[in-house]
Amino acid sequence: MNNLDLPLADFIKTTKDRLRILQELGVRTLRDLFFYFPWRYSDETETTRVIDLVEEEMQSVTGEVSGFTSMQTKTGKLMTRAFLRDETGKLELVWFNQPYLRQVLTNGVVIIASGKPKLSRGKITMLSPKFELVKANKETVHTGRVVPVYHSASTLTPKWFREKIFPLLYLTKQIKDYIGEATLRELNLIGLSEAVAEAHFPSDEEKLAAAKRRLAFDELFLLQLGALRRKWYFRNLAMGNQKEYLLNKNLVQEFLANLPFALTNAQGKVIAEILEDLQKPYPMSRLLEGDVGSGKTVVAAASLLAVISAGYQGLIMAPTEILARQHYQNLFKYLQKYGVTPVFLAGSLTKTEKERVYERLRLGTADLVVGTHALLQEKVQFKNLGLAIVDEQHRFGVKQREILKSFGTPHLLSLTATPIPRTLALTIYGDQEVSILDELPAGRSEIVTRVVPESKRDDAYVWIETQVKAGRQAFVVCPLIQESEELQLKSVIAEYERLNSEVFPDLVLGLLHGKMKQKEKDAVMEKFANNEIQILVSTTVVEVGIDVPNATIMVIEGADRFGLAQLHQLRGRVGRGEHQSYCFLFPEGRGEEVRQRMQAMTEFSDGFRLAEIDLELRGPGEVYGVKQSGIPDLKMASFNDKELIGMARALATKVIDVDPELKSNPHLLDRLANLDREFGVDY
Ligand code: ADP
Ligand code: MG
Repeated sequence: MNNLDLPLADFIKTTKDRLRILQELGVRTLRDLFFYFPWRYSDETETTRVIDLVEEEMQSVTGEVSGFTSMQTKTGKLMTRAFLRDETGKLELVWFNQPYLRQVLTNGVVIIASGKPKLSRGKITMLSPKFELVKANKETVHTGRVVPVYHSASTLTPKWFREKIFPLLYLTKQIKDYIGEATLRELNLIGLSEAVAEAHFPSDEEKLAAAKRRLAFDELFLLQLGALRRKWYFRNLAMGNQKEYLLNKNLVQEFLANLPFALTNAQGKVIAEILEDLQKPYPMSRLLEGDVGSGKTVVAAASLLAVISAGYQGLIMAPTEILARQHYQNLFKYLQKYGVTPVFLAGSLTKTEKERVYERLRLGTADLVVGTHALLQEKVQFKNLGLAIVDEQHRFGVKQREILKSFGTPHLLSLTATPIPRTLALTIYGDQEVSILDELPAGRSEIVTRVVPESKRDDAYVWIETQVKAGRQAFVVCPLIQESEELQLKSVIAEYERLNSEVFPDLVLGLLHGKMKQKEKDAVMEKFANNEIQILVSTTVVEVGIDVPNATIMVIEGADRFGLAQLHQLRGRVGRGEHQSYCFLFPEGRGEEVRQRMQAMTEFSDGFRLAEIDLELRGPGEVYGVKQSGIPDLKMASFNDKELIGMARALATKVIDVDPELKSNPHLLDRLANLDREFGVDY
């Protein structure tokens, strides 16, 4: 019988209120409590002799209590004093308002006290020390050891957690390991139940390190195991479903040869990888990462042409209508001469227009559809969809895949300009192959990037005005206000009005934000593209895709509110034409981290490099946003630990190769089922 899944109330005595708080923390069963780990530890293993105490440092002393007194202070507090004696001297202990101490601190008891001593008038005093009675041969919980510190939650203090968890530790033995003895030894990992126990109450620093390593391994292992299992499942499901693709490679070669530019090496390599995938007997699942301007669209076009010329249909989906339209135009331009007939689908079409598109897709009289999320609904049906591409999203989410299954499990390609370092990509997107366009087309000049202090703001405006009067165009991006859409809207409108009336009264300004109707947005973008608007003031809606080669200046207000990868994407809106381009960053905040991040923008033009720096400075949760990105919130592991990631991947691969459905390993299956809750994402 396993106790681990019984409700906590069966094991600990506490109030309903506290049980409710625990529930809110996701702690319902004994197992949950065991996997609620301390967030830090305080090493109090060393006890110091009174004579060796130093001032202002956390230290523990063991000794006998004597001379207990308590008195009222002038301010009305109850002050309790006692002395602690060891063979080297005497230490004064002082507490306030703790009347119950009288019962505990009787003369002659031995305690261990921890605190920061102070020296005054020849007397050493510890104010409000933690203390614990020392009983012969019994382990201490709160002092004199490596003490676990749990996050406090309302009335649940670290001390409360320590008191409740300590007596239950013997039950950690019931935690079953899903890694065998031999493998553990080979990987130099300790067992799971030992790791859990040691993570709460470590015997020593070394054991603690071993426990953390094991638990970190588990996170990385489970994550990758889940991904590999999904990959297996996806393939298995699609097997047999898959038709033979007779790719017309000559046609693709002809298309590539007729482009007005030569492919970069990276583009050539990635196209070859994709063409190879398209001929395999199971559907491709590939993520293409490429910096802004690295030329992902051509790769998409070549892939679509390959599939369409083999007699199948293609789909490409973008996150906004502006972007979808741009893709539609580009693909039309690229592919029309090769006999491809594209159609467009988005929310703004009339009902009749939509019906017409549905029909053409169902009958196969259109072989390429470009659109927004409007593509993912029941009414859309294909004659034979061969390839689905999503642009500028992190990847096909689980839900999107489910929908695409109903389209006959086509090949999948995700395009993203979010530079996710390869180790991170392999861990979290382990169910996809990853291709990287790590090379920009030749001849691009670097975008000059400057951090502008407030004192130089006016100079910057004067300079911008001169440039615009010489024929160039500028973007002004307003700060990101995550907390409130309403505030965001207000701030962008205010900035537009200020610039329009006070700063650039002679120039034509335009305003663009997410609350505008599609038609209005399109009209503004069109005017900007035709240089009828000279300065475009906007929110981050310009972040993705938009291509206006004559725009050479990017001003980013509140630049420190953005992640480096996002700043880099914004910056990528300029530098698309023949003229030298510039990016001006106006940070709001100060401080070392802001300074370092802004400086990184001026030093590096490589999005991957910037993402790595941001990861190091802020961690993946901050950089990509745990919820939005689907990047799991790791507790113990680090995405930068390449060695452990590699070990975990090797084991996960071995497990899935032998037993993809985990039939022989129900514990593991159980753990996987709980992953989304543990990592806080829709996994
Ligand atoms: P992104 O990867 O940001 O989507 P795009 O596909 O929009 O990049 O390409 C950016 C620009 O670079 C486009 O104008 C495109 O025509 C051009 N381009 C793409 N590949 C090359 C290349 N190999 N040489 C020169 N220009 C290229
Ligand atoms: Mg693009």
